Amino acid sequence: MALWKCEECGHEKESRCKPKKCPQCSSSKGFVKAEAAGDSCCD
Ligand SMILES: [Zn+2]
Repeated sequence: MALWKCEECGHEKESRCKPKKCPQCSSSKGFVKAEAAGDSCCD
């Protein structure tokens, strides 16, 4: 799992792959990888 951070509002979401849309602000601007926790499924 990796930790993704919304560039718009800073909301953090744990997901295997890059989220398409922020659940908090609904922005599709983009997520940046905040932290990688071991397994890399989609690199
Ligand atoms: Zn957001």
